[in-house]
Amino acid sequence: MPELPEIEVLRRSLEPHLVGDRVERVEVRNRALREPIDARALSRRAAGRDIATLRRRAKYLLIDLTGGQTVVVHLGMSGRLTLAPGGAPPEPHEHAVFHLRSGRKLRLRDPRRFGLLFALPTAGLAADPHFAHLGVEPLEPGFSGGVLAAAAAGRRGPVKPFLMDATVVVGVGNIYASEALHRAGVHPARSVARISAASRAVLRQAIEQGGTTLNDFADGEGRSGYFQVSLGVYDRAGEPCAACGTAVRRLVQAGRSTFYCPRCQR
Ligand code: ZN
Repeated sequence: MPELPEIEVLRRSLEPHLVGDRVERVEVRNRALREPIDARALSRRAAGRDIATLRRRAKYLLIDLTGGQTVVVHLGMSGRLTLAPGGAPPEPHEHAVFHLRSGRKLRLRDPRRFGLLFALPTAGLAADPHFAHLGVEPLEPGFSGGVLAAAAAGRRGPVKPFLMDATVVVGVGNIYASEALHRAGVHPARSVARISAASRAVLRQAIEQGGTTLNDFADGEGRSGYFQVSLGVYDRAGEPCAACGTAVRRLVQAGRSTFYCPRCQR
């Protein structure tokens, strides 16, 4: 599943190629994504409009068009959004295609069909049910230890599910959360109410660094090896901790595997 930094990589890699181009026509080959594609609404809002900017909110890619319309893409578990020459033959699972004035096509492939594709007025984004509940962006300058403290106030329960709660911070997936806690030296089961200010600061920094490692990747397919080069604990049960050599342990929290070092993380 693509994590937030990979969507940011995708945004950065597509933006220079898309801005200024125009959506001539939208072709929907298969409507059956996680939510059915409303092909008529998508076409009505997108066709004939220029691409103005590419933004990201959580793991949603936002393609802002002239005339105050925005196309929203979520890659779900297995989606790929790629540019191809207009004459390229359709690939398997190519569910939707934006035919561009430049002659190229922007295509959405999604074998497992957990993705989303829809359009709405740009002004309505914040209030839209997909976005209204979302927490802070971890890669924005406003993300601070204080933001985490405010979100943690009055809460109980272990810190890892808290970090993965999208109403707190968006886009912190299982790998991201395990690795950030390892870097911060915080045990994943520690109560969120018992995270010191210092630990919060390190945690914030670790989450931010997780995001900035995306600079190391230049994969224009949005399929980068995020964190794979530097996994300290994730999916490494029984193997030595990258920092101290102690065997990494696994526990299950909220139905998800969590990996941690019993020595580094308290
Ligand atoms: Zn360790």
